[in-house]
Formats: sequence, C-alpha cells, structure tokens
Amino acid sequence: MTKFKTIKIYCSQCNTLLYKYYKAGNGHLVKCYKDRIKDDYTNGDLKCPNCKSQFAREKMIHGKPANKIVQGKVYAKS
Ligand SMILES: [Zn+2]
Repeated sequence: MTKFKTIKIYCSQCNTLLYKYYKAGNGHLVKCYKDRIKDDYTNGDLKCPNCKSQFAREKMIHGKPANKIVQGKVYAKS
C-alpha cells in the first residue's frame, strides 16, 4: 500500500507557499496530481501569485491531469 504524506511546496524564487500536497513515497518531486493538491494558494494558473514565475506545466501523467514541475522553480518541505 502506498503511503502518503503532506508536504508544502514553495516558490524557490520568493519562498511563497504554493500548495499543500499529498505526496506518495519519498522520491524527488517531479509532478503534482491535481486531485492530490490539498490546499492551493495560487490563482490556478501555475504561476507563483507573488513573483509570477511559472513553476509547472499542465500534463496528463498516467491518464491523470497533473502539474509537471519545472525543475528548480520550487522546493518542498514536509
Ligand atoms: Zn515566487
């Protein structure tokens, strides 16, 4: 069974909180499935609401809508 933990995802440019997200496993964060975003602090446009940096792109991954993270644009904390 997959274990989920809640992580917080921040903009790496200005440290703004972007998402609280249920992440599976311990691997590097490369995508956020939309249905696992617990709290969304953005305007839903995949840009940081503070510095307007685009941090992700919409993509279907394994048949599910997801936000694919642009590497280096965000960091995560448990
Ligand atoms: Zn930012």
